[in-house]
Amino acid sequence: MNIILLGPPGAGKGTQASRLEREHGMVQLSTGDMLRAAVAAGTPVGMKAKAVMDAGGLVSDEIVNAILSDRLDADDARSGFTLDGYPRTQVQAEALDAMLAAKGMKLDHVIELAVDEEALVDRITGRFTCCVCGEGYHDRYKQPKVAGTCDVCGSHDFKRRPDDNAATVRTRMAEYRAKTAPILPYYDARGLVARVDGMAAMADVNAAIEAVLQARIL
Ligand code: AMP
Repeated sequence: MNIILLGPPGAGKGTQASRLEREHGMVQLSTGDMLRAAVAAGTPVGMKAKAVMDAGGLVSDEIVNAILSDRLDADDARSGFTLDGYPRTQVQAEALDAMLAAKGMKLDHVIELAVDEEALVDRITGRFTCCVCGEGYHDRYKQPKVAGTCDVCGSHDFKRRPDDNAATVRTRMAEYRAKTAPILPYYDARGLVARVDGMAAMADVNAAIEAVLQARIL
């Protein structure tokens, strides 16, 4: 199954995409992760993208479409994927359709994670991840069981995203409202959109997404 998770920064797209990868083998395709890897590696794409990302803006459609198209060519994408953070503009949504058609793939669902923006700033500015295994934590909502030690892999190294500060988060939200939310009707017209309450307890969000995935099989 191939799905898109749509929602503002901090809505839980990454958390859900990594759960779907773990539980269903649907590979998590996060353009944000791909871009951060390019920045860390100092590639030409990474060098172009860095300033835009630090400011909370959107990297050009051309760059992001090319990265995603390459990633879709890897074998693992054939067994199902979750798009996390892509598409973010109408141009990207149309490019994705063209890519999928050319590669003989199709979209099964677009899941919108609906959330309250004010609560998101609080969620985002407190988050951090393990440098080794990528497990996500939060200063208030999910601290490691033993302070300073990752619950999953035992590492003592954690990192925070440079764009997870209050000012940049506001810009990222504004970008979502202006450029990403308007693509929902494009998918709605094809009957692909399911809306899930992203403010619900984690177990309920998980269950609501599972119900959407099951609905296709029944
Ligand atoms: P994310 O990890 O999805 O929050 O993305 C982090 C940053 O990477 C965003 O604020 C953008 O600057 C950039 N980015 C990620 N995905 C895209 C995309 N599909 N289109 C444009 N910029 C993107």
